[in-house]
Amino acid sequence: KEYSKEEILQYAEANNVRYVRLQFTDLLGIVKNVEIPVDQLPKALNNRMMFDGSSIQGFVRIEESDMYLAPDLSTWLIFPWETPQGKVARLICDVYQPDGTPFPGDPRSVLKRVYARAQDMGFSAFNVGPEPEFFLFKLDEKGKPTQDLNDEGGYFDWAPVDLGENCRRDIVVTLENMGFEIEASHHEVAPGQHEIDFRYANAVEAADNIATFRLVVKTVARQHGLHATFMPKPLYGINGSGMHTHLSLFRDHQNAFYDPDDELGLSETARFFLAGVLEHARGFTAICNPTVNSYKRLVPGYEAPSYIAWSGKNRSPLVRVPAARGQSTRVEVRSPDPSCNPYLAIASLLAAGLDGIERQLELPPPVNRNIYMMTESEKEEAGIRSLPANLSDALDALMRDEVLVEALGHHVLLHFIEAKRIEWNMFRTQVTEWEREQYLTLY
Ligand code: ADP
Ligand code: MG
Ligand code: MG
Ligand code: MG
Ligand code: MG
Repeated sequence: KEYSKEEILQYAEANNVRYVRLQFTDLLGIVKNVEIPVDQLPKALNNRMMFDGSSIQGFVRIEESDMYLAPDLSTWLIFPWETPQGKVARLICDVYQPDGTPFPGDPRSVLKRVYARAQDMGFSAFNVGPEPEFFLFKLDEKGKPTQDLNDEGGYFDWAPVDLGENCRRDIVVTLENMGFEIEASHHEVAPGQHEIDFRYANAVEAADNIATFRLVVKTVARQHGLHATFMPKPLYGINGSGMHTHLSLFRDHQNAFYDPDDELGLSETARFFLAGVLEHARGFTAICNPTVNSYKRLVPGYEAPSYIAWSGKNRSPLVRVPAARGQSTRVEVRSPDPSCNPYLAIASLLAAGLDGIERQLELPPPVNRNIYMMTESEKEEAGIRSLPANLSDALDALMRDEVLVEALGHHVLLHFIEAKRIEWNMFRTQVTEWEREQYLTLY
């Protein structure tokens, strides 16, 4: 909903809002905020709030650190929970440089730039429907997360096995109070694991929603004495948490992926888009699966993809085309996980698909067999490549992908790769308990 500045000031006054959080995200998708007392709100609404960007991950050097926050008025929201000091509201902001141009390191502006290209190509929306999964762990007496899951439930289990139910329902109610349209919520396959699905939204709004969703889940879980984590694979031997992402392009409010005359009900646009997603899958993996831990999820045996293929029938490949047609025609990319920066992930998926449309890439045939049962030579014959096996390979693939390099921009790419190389090298040189168990007595 679009609000005017006057309306926002009125709402703040009428609802006794005491503080306003000016929210943005850093390069790694971590939500940052500057909190202002409500009497500073008029100044903030005129884009006059300055902050020092030099200590924000992936932002800037000290000598160029002044940044301005420009609130997006459509994101005005009063948090439904009370604090001892009264009500708190938030506005999601774009980050600007002192000269008034968008800051190239702001992930939200990266997504806006890629989305503008979709608009130039005649599309009126890029719809994104995420299915984020997360685990609930118990807290200890000191309030620190333990490794004890909060229940022993399984897929679609019912209370009382599913002790997460009250917490999950409370999360759903809170999200609904904040304007989310929840489509489903259920216990996932692993113990302590849950999924909440909310309705798709247009590119930037969808990314805002994912950022807000993660914040709300963590906040409400705390109130139940639990720790919610979006870490992709918190425990060895059980499923990790993914964030399947459903995608479609609309033209004049009509689904541009749908063609009733096609044998599969898919338009040329859908085929080109899907071909682009497959073409750039190795490249966008570093963005959609950005942690060392992400690659512990992308292994066979736990319902996560590790090969690049699509299917309309089978749920296991990288991309599935769900059976629904008409306005619900969409492709589901199954590799992203909820540790990603949602702005950069959606930007890279869109850039991949748009490249397919621009170059009219040919869609390879669907793979309806179980890829894990195919031999190496069968896979090679069918042209099935695998996703990068670890963060290092994924970073190499990203740097070689010119379309994604251009879409993300040099500032983001440079800082992202630098931060992630450090992360990889730290991980790579660790000596783990597993290694000592394997080798200490053997050698
Ligand atoms: P799954 O069958 O993989 O479990 P879900 O039903 O849980 O999928 O989630 C479907 C997601 O797809 C929801 O977020 C929904 O809003 C979204 N969705 C529905 N139609 C579209 C569309 N046309 N474009 C993008 N996303 C869509
Ligand atoms: Mg689902
Ligand atoms: Mg599902
Ligand atoms: Mg799921
Ligand atoms: Mg799914």
